[in-house]
Order: sequence, then C-alpha cells, then structure tokens
Amino acid sequence: MPRKKRLFWQLYPSYLLITLISLVAVTWYASSSIRDFYIEHATSDLEARALLFEQQISEHIDPLNARTIDRLSKRAGRHASTRITVLLPSGKVVGDSDEDPATMDNHADRPEFIGAINGNRGVSIRHSITLDKDLMYVALPLKKSSHTIAVVRTSIPISSIDDALGAIQVKVLLGGLVMALFAAILSFFVSRRITRPIEQIRTWAESVARGDFLLKPPVRSSEEIEGLCESLSRMAEDLRERIDQVIRQRNEIEAMFLSMIEGVIALDMEEHVISLNQAAAEILCCDLSETQGRSIQEVVRNTALHEFVRETILADKPVEKDITISSDGEGLVNARGAILRDAGGKQIGALIVLNDVTRLRRLENIRRDFASNVSHEIKTPITAIKGFVETLRDGAIRNPEDAERFLGIIEKHVDRLEAIIEDLLKLSKIEQEAEKEGIALVKSRISEILQNAVQVCHMGAADREIKIDISCSESMVAEVAPSLIEQAVVNLLDNAIKYSDSGGTVRIKAIEREGQIIIAVRDQGCGIEKKHLPRLFERFYRVDKARSRQLGGTGLGLAIVKHIVQAHGGRLSVESTPGKGSIFSIHLPKA
Ligand code: ADP
Repeated sequence: MPRKKRLFWQLYPSYLLITLISLVAVTWYASSSIRDFYIEHATSDLEARALLFEQQISEHIDPLNARTIDRLSKRAGRHASTRITVLLPSGKVVGDSDEDPATMDNHADRPEFIGAINGNRGVSIRHSITLDKDLMYVALPLKKSSHTIAVVRTSIPISSIDDALGAIQVKVLLGGLVMALFAAILSFFVSRRITRPIEQIRTWAESVARGDFLLKPPVRSSEEIEGLCESLSRMAEDLRERIDQVIRQRNEIEAMFLSMIEGVIALDMEEHVISLNQAAAEILCCDLSETQGRSIQEVVRNTALHEFVRETILADKPVEKDITISSDGEGLVNARGAILRDAGGKQIGALIVLNDVTRLRRLENIRRDFASNVSHEIKTPITAIKGFVETLRDGAIRNPEDAERFLGIIEKHVDRLEAIIEDLLKLSKIEQEAEKEGIALVKSRISEILQNAVQVCHMGAADREIKIDISCSESMVAEVAPSLIEQAVVNLLDNAIKYSDSGGTVRIKAIEREGQIIIAVRDQGCGIEKKHLPRLFERFYRVDKARSRQLGGTGLGLAIVKHIVQAHGGRLSVESTPGKGSIFSIHLPKA
C-alpha cells in the first residue's frame, strides 16, 4: 500500500494553492482594469487634442493649403508630444507632425480613418509601419455643412501606457507576494491548529492500544474535536472494562485449566496444539513451554496417541481408549476425545482429556492376580488332601503304615492351608484397621519389641544353628503398635533364618536417624537377584516357589511387613547381594 500523506501535507498545500490562485486572479483583474482605464483616458486625451487641432486647421482645408497644414501639424506635434496627421477624405495625407506627407502612402484603409470617415470617432491600437512602433490612434472627422472635408488623427506610442501599466503590475505583484507570504504563514498555523489535536488523539489512541488507559485524550480544541475526545474516552473506558473482564475470565479459566488433575490437550484441525495443561505435559513427559503451536507429532512420539487424535477429529461422537505411553509398557493413560467447536458450533479441532490410570490398572492387576494366586495357593493343598482322602477310602486306611503316612501328609497340607488363611486374615485386618480409624499407637520401647520377636524365632534359629544378634539402645522409644511391629520383625527374622545357611548369623540393628527409627535385619544367606526386588513385597511373590513352599512359606510374609510399616506411615526397603545376603530395613517415623 502506498504510504499515506500526513493530513498537514494535505491541508497546507491546498490552502497555499487557493491563496496563490486568488492572488493571480486579483492581480490579473486589477491589471486589466487599470489598462482599460489608461486606454480610455488616453483615448479621451487624444480626442481632445484632435478637436483642438481641428479648430486650428479648419480654415486651411477649404480651400486647401497643404503646406500650412503640414507646418501647423509639425508645430502642434512638437508642443503636445503627439503625432498629428491630417488626411483628406480620399485618404491622402496632407499634413503630418513627424513625416513628410509626400512620402506617405494613402491611409484610406486604416481602421481609425474608416471609423472617422463614417462620421464617428475612429480608434485603433496597432503597429505603425511608418514608425515601427505600437501606436494608439484616434481619428475625428472635420465637418463643414455636415460634409466631412478632412480627418484629423492624433496618436501616441502605446509603450508609454505599457510602461505605466508595467510599473503598476510590479507593485501589485510585490504586494501580492507579501500577501502570499503572509497567507502561507497563516495557513501553516491554521493547518497546524487543525492537525495538532488529531496528532494528539492519535498518540493517545496508541497509548490506549499499549494498555495505558488515560481517562481522556489531553486535547484542547474546537467543540467538535472535544466532543470526539469525550466519545473516545468513553469508548476507552468501556474497552478497559471489557478487557479487564476478559483477562479476569481468562485467568480463571487458565487457573482451572492448569490445576486440573486430568491432562487436557486442545488441538486444531491440523493437529497443532492450541493449549496443553501442566498435567498433560507431566503425563506425556514433554516440556510445556515448547508445545504451543506445534503439531502433536512433534510434541509426543506416540503412534497410538496420534491415531487417537485423528480418530477424534474424524469421529462425530466422543471416543475413549486406553493408551500405553511409556516405552516400558508400564505407563497407561485413559484418553477421552471430543470434537472442539467454536461459538458458532463449527468444528475447530479436538479436545483430548488424559487420565493417568497406571496405578489404577496396576492395582486392578494386583487384585486380579491376588484372587487367582489365592485360589491357586489354596487349590494345591486341597487337591492333595482330597487325593489322599480318596486313597485312604480306597483301602489305604486298612494298611496302618500307609494310613499313618498319608494322614501325616494331609496334616501338613492342612497346616499350610491354615498358615495361608492366617496370613490372609492378618493382612486384611491390618488393611482394615489402617483404612478405618488407623492403628492404635502407643509409646513403646523398641528393644523390648525386638527381644520378643527374637524369642518367637528362637526355636527355628536354634534348629538351624543360627545366631541372632541384637543391637539396640535400651532407651530407644517410638509411638508404634508394638504387636504389629513385633509381627513385622518376626516375619523378617523368619525369612532371614529360612534363607540362610546353617551356622550363620542374623543381625538386628535399630538406630535413630533424621527423626526416623530404622530397624534393619541383616542375614548372610542366599541373597536376591536385582530383577526380583521391585516386586518382592507383592502378595504371593516368591523368588523360588518350590523352596519357599518346602520351607513352609506362604509368600505373604513380606506383604504383611509392608502393610504394617505403611500403616505406621513408614516404608520397607531392601538391599541384597546374591550369594552374600540381604538387609531388610523398616523405616518408622519417630512420632
Ligand atoms: P515366603 O513365605 O515365601 O518367605 P515372603 O513374602 O516372606 O514369602 O518372601 C517372599 C520371597 O522373598 C521369598 O519367597 C524369598 O524368595 C524372598 N526372600 C524373603 N526374604 C529373604 C531373605 N532374607 N533372603 C533371601 N530371599 C528372601
């Protein structure tokens, strides 16, 4: 677009042009009026002289005395500084103030002569061939008894009129120029006066656009401009209120959007991110500041999510799907997609809501696994019991030796069933207590708890010639449920004894560190491979199933410990080196 001229440069030249045209017109009109006036004046003057001269020569015409007429002409011409010519009606020159009539040609064709011969005053302004000048001629008829007997012509060079006119024109022009200068200065100030308030309004409007809402444009000018300023300031006030409202609403929506637990992504039809909240950035592991305006393919590398976005944009109803988001297949999100519409109802993209369901699904899996594990764990002894009961029924009962052996096996399986059920009951009791009113905590001496636990495991340790070492300050106390902590330590000690070789030592150490009581049970047993550690505290998880069963394990011992510790607001940790031993540590908050 060509650059627009400033208003000042549109007004000022127009003013100047109007002034100059007016001046030229006035100068021209004045000069032509003055010229007309001068010519009229000169004509009257020449006419008066011609009349005067007519009287002098009238007696020498009839009869004609050409010599006298010529002499009189020359004398009068000299005195009056006027050329005087006397002509006969035939056009023949009989007297001339400047030339010799004999050498002059016939003047019958001259316009002023024709006018005079017709009985009127003949006037002509033209170039004189005789004198080679522009002359003004006035010719008058000289009558006798209403007959024209001669024509007297007077003339003066027109240059004298032109000189006088020129001098006047120079003066008018100079005056005009002064006026033009004055008009130019005046129109400059007038133009400035008109454009300055507009400039000020513009500056004010620019400051409003920058968000600097001054109440009124600071302009002092005409009523119209001040009226305009009033309207503009009202408009700005209105605008400010609306902008404040929009900003307030936007901030509220943004705050809501940002604090949502669900991840939300708004995308346009080209799958570019319009908006993405903090939760979505965390779920998708991307940098929130680098998402705006970028395509979803650039923001997240996940084909399943890309397909889901495409499906949402193309679908005419909401869609839902579980999408795996982490490369290890662990992270799972529940994605729900709907069409995003503008105020007019036109589709402008898609809105995706993400819910991290990793924990939920894991819990569901654990619960499912738990149910199937429990059934499996219980089924094995029951099948065995049933089998041996049938064998006894089928005749084995009659053989006392076999009967005794089979009953022994049945008893072992019943014990196992009992152990499993006891452990399950313990687990559910701890869970229930922790979920309902929380476990009852009492100030207890830790060394006492540890000694009681060792007492419980004493027989088992003695059977395998395993020594148990306790290291705990007598003064150490903590707010705990003593029976539960004892149970936890018993479980850890039981494992440490079970998975150690005979003759080893198991050490229990309780220390206080950073407001925590740490009870560590260290053994010198077989240890656990690193890959098992993350799942070790799950119910029924066992590294070596056969060995655990053989040792009378239920696979619930560590799960019980974990639940007891969690019910105290603490945590259970494990460090282990295969072949060297393990350390299981209970971390409890002191108060
Ligand atoms: P279990 O009744 O089988 O001992 P737990 O829940 O107590 O069940 O332990 C789970 C599994 O962890 C055990 O089967 C065993 O493989 C492993 N484990 C527990 N404690 C130890 C330990 N001190 N040394 C080696 N392995 C252990």
